[in-house]
Amino acid sequence: MKNKAPLIGYSLIFLGAALIITDAGALFNMYYLYYISIIVGIIILLTYYLITRSEKNLLCRIGFHKFEHIGWDDEVSFRLIYRCRRCGYVKRVIRSSGGGGM
Ligand SMILES: [Zn+2]
Repeated sequence: MKNKAPLIGYSLIFLGAALIITDAGALFNMYYLYYISIIVGIIILLTYYLITRSEKNLLCRIGFHKFEHIGWDDEVSFRLIYRCRRCGYVKRVIRSSGGGGM
């Protein structure tokens, strides 16, 4: 049951956002329910990530890593290596030749 939490959370957020966008609240006068749906969805997701992940930093646990560029991958060209300053999580990103960005 535990790993269904993200699905439920995302569903609630999506449902609430979709109903607000389609302006269903004007018909049913239940606008606040959609915001509650989104808020509950976010709480479920955050709770799930805080419980299941092991990073010490709370922001890292919910996916907000503080990445810094530490080098290039030896195996694949144009692949950048980033490491999180807080928890040490490493990710590799293939950089497209045309892109600007960071
Ligand atoms: Zn991190």
